[in-house]
Amino acid sequence: MPNDLNAPLESAADVLRAASDVTLLAHVNPDADALGSALALGLVLHRLGKSVRVSFGEPETVPETLLGLDVAGLLVPASAVPAAPEVLVALDTGSVARLGPLADRVSTAGAVVVLDHHVSNPGYGTVNVIDPTAEATALVVLRLLDVLGVELDEPVARCVYAGLVTDTRSFRHASAATHEVAARLLAAGVDAEAVARPLMDSHPFGYLGMLAKVLGRAELIADAAGGRGFVHAVVTLDDAAGLRPEEVESVVDLVRTTAEAEVAAVLKELRPSSWSVSLRAVSAVDVREVAQLLGGGGHRLAAGYTAEGDAADVLARLRVALETVAG
Ligand code: 5GP
Ligand code: MN
Repeated sequence: MPNDLNAPLESAADVLRAASDVTLLAHVNPDADALGSALALGLVLHRLGKSVRVSFGEPETVPETLLGLDVAGLLVPASAVPAAPEVLVALDTGSVARLGPLADRVSTAGAVVVLDHHVSNPGYGTVNVIDPTAEATALVVLRLLDVLGVELDEPVARCVYAGLVTDTRSFRHASAATHEVAARLLAAGVDAEAVARPLMDSHPFGYLGMLAKVLGRAELIADAAGGRGFVHAVVTLDDAAGLRPEEVESVVDLVRTTAEAEVAAVLKELRPSSWSVSLRAVSAVDVREVAQLLGGGGHRLAAGYTAEGDAADVLARLRVALETVAG
């Protein structure tokens, strides 16, 4: 991690040491990096005697696979987040808008600490610790825990590991130094298989039927993405009925395995005519640029945005943005 983050890390630690009440927020539809990061830091601050809550704007329910990380019962619904938090910490949240219905708290909070790894993060906090070279926000949090000088025990290490194993796609996108961090987390007692399996490799039987429908309708457009190939699939509310968000979120990991396509997209229906779109690239196309043209953001090889309209319209607009970036 770059040394120039030492000063903001010290400032963040000062703000948190002085706080008596801390609200930690993940982005909407939080993943393991966002909630794992928030819960790791939240747990430490809770033990330091502070009043702590962890939340996110939407949906109303916590992803089932992440509930087990909350060993101290820090998660509260968005409705329980104070109107003017004393100290707000935003984690893995590249823009204020990604806080969803809680975005207004950035202007009402007494202080805002931003901990993130999105290169596009404008630094909307009073203190900003943003490391685009970090493979996960959880690594930024771990660095802050070290500055705070707290012990890394298993429950905290587990939260960090959850963010790290998912954002690195099981350590495929992890530097040598990050593998050393993983070793440190294992030494703290993390059971890697017990953490990773529910997050990445376990789904109810109904998942197979959903995949059969959704993948059966997937389309490959070999000459799209500047001739590098584009594959897409659509998950409607009907396809996802009775399944968790975890099942829907994992579809892109299968679609992206298409060898003939550099870029993969999955349209996930949130409400009728309202979609969350996941974009993935193998290596050559910057899908963050594509997502940004459509109002979203993310990382070079994994990005997303939301869109309104019917699936065909959303796909048509995506094709235009894709050719603008990759054509
Ligand atoms: P996913 O496809 O897993 O939902 O998201 C992949 C990445 O894209 C996330 O880590 C996040 O950085 C970004 N992302 C996803 N959806 C949105 C969105 O609606 N807006 C923005 N700004 N970024 C998004
Ligand atoms: Mn992340």
